Amino acid sequence: MSQRVKIKALLQSQQTDVDVTVKGWVRAFRSNRFIALNDGSTNNNIQIVVDFENTDPALLKRITVGAALSVAGKLVASQGKGQTVEVIATDIEILGDSDPDKYPIQPKKHSLEFLRENAHLRFRTSTFGAIFRVRNTLAFAVHQFFQERGFIYLHTPVITQSDAEGAGEAFHVTNFDLTNIPKTDTGEVDFKQDFFGAATNLTVSGQLEGELGAMALSDVYTFGPTFRAENSNTTRHLAEFWMIEPEVAFNDLTDNMDLAEDMLKYVIKYALDKNAEDIEFLTQRLEEEEKQKPQNERSEMSLLEKLQFCLNHDFERLTYTEAIEILKESTPNKKKKFVYPIEGWGTDLQSEHERYLVEKHFKKPVILTDYPKEIKAFYMRQNDDGKTVGAMDILFPGIGEIIGGSAREERLDKLEQRMDEMGIPKDELWWYLDTRRFGSCPHAGFGLGFERLVLFVTGMGNIRDVIPFPRFPKNAEF
Ligand code: ATP
Ligand code: MN
Repeated sequence: MSQRVKIKALLQSQQTDVDVTVKGWVRAFRSNRFIALNDGSTNNNIQIVVDFENTDPALLKRITVGAALSVAGKLVASQGKGQTVEVIATDIEILGDSDPDKYPIQPKKHSLEFLRENAHLRFRTSTFGAIFRVRNTLAFAVHQFFQERGFIYLHTPVITQSDAEGAGEAFHVTNFDLTNIPKTDTGEVDFKQDFFGAATNLTVSGQLEGELGAMALSDVYTFGPTFRAENSNTTRHLAEFWMIEPEVAFNDLTDNMDLAEDMLKYVIKYALDKNAEDIEFLTQRLEEEEKQKPQNERSEMSLLEKLQFCLNHDFERLTYTEAIEILKESTPNKKKKFVYPIEGWGTDLQSEHERYLVEKHFKKPVILTDYPKEIKAFYMRQNDDGKTVGAMDILFPGIGEIIGGSAREERLDKLEQRMDEMGIPKDELWWYLDTRRFGSCPHAGFGLGFERLVLFVTGMGNIRDVIPFPRFPKNAEF
């Protein structure tokens, strides 16, 4: 038997009338004659032509949707429409049967909700095959972007003693017997007796450790899982997500914005080149979905156009203060259409405001800078006005915030003063403060939520559909 060839390679093959072996799963079987076989290397199936008159009927019966097959045969130019080549089978081996009455994934359209409940099998659909190939490409492109620029990939810890943002959204990590938790004399949990001798949690961000690396290696990035126990049951939040966090010594806020914009454009372009077929498929999928919506709610651009548009335009850069002015004067604000009306300067922007700016006002990606210090983290660099900090959020159409970042406060006195004001324990972060004591320098960084990027590039509407096994409130199955 000839060596197995992946279906993607077969479909691109210039050579016909050669013996091939192909392995994969049955997507459809019609007229007892044509098998659509897929192995995940491409969204396209290879057509296997079965000589049903000379095939054992018992074997034919076992060719069911979902079954795993090994097929040996001849690759020929296709007689039919829809494919250029097909395989005339000479030998079909059933590697794994699939009971057609019980197999949940049928050759028809399933709802995304149904497929989420069958996340263990949803890889076998065209939509999820495309999504996870694109996700793979984007992950690779992220590494390539930073590697080309001489960044060091730094692995920051998953278990930490600090809650980086102090937002109290961290999952506890403990080795205690939960039915018998050791207490101190005063009745508090005695973390000294726990595995690490201190209270620990899953990381909410690798930034603080990333900064330590940048203070010696200059340009670093992390790319790892991040955990947040926030109870936001939205289409843009996961309890476990992957975050990319570059941290760069000697960069200021403008450098930081340039780096983020370059990175986003680089990885989107990379996916467009590498996964053209998958993105074409996802564009059509989205078009079908848009047709279900009322005319005035439909997107003006197709997925492909949106991605290209994003590559071809500079992101709009403006300050928070300028954004507030725009929002205050906006029609939805005046007509009281915002759930959270914009009354004045100082409040955080909600997703509805971010999306108004991006989708209605500027109609392109937006970078907002210089937010009020009250709504941002302690480590952001304080501006001379005494009111704002050197923060930057990048807002994307359909997504809202995709990146959050800032110039970091490198001046020890300013940093300590802000930590005191915000009640951040300085003694616990002695190691972080040490970088400001020994050779401190201006630096900046940001966090890109990887799944939000995958959402944008695949045109999917729910973040739970762009990670293989989503974790969200009340769900950690699979
Ligand atoms: P949001 O306001 O959308 O909750 P955030 O301000 O909490 O975001 P940051 O702490 O700045 O976000 O985190 C950096 C990036 O990580 C965000 O820009 C976003 O892309 C992503 N992100 C944050 N929280 C989540 C989450 N729960 N699930 C998926 N991605 C997230
Ligand atoms: Mn959040």
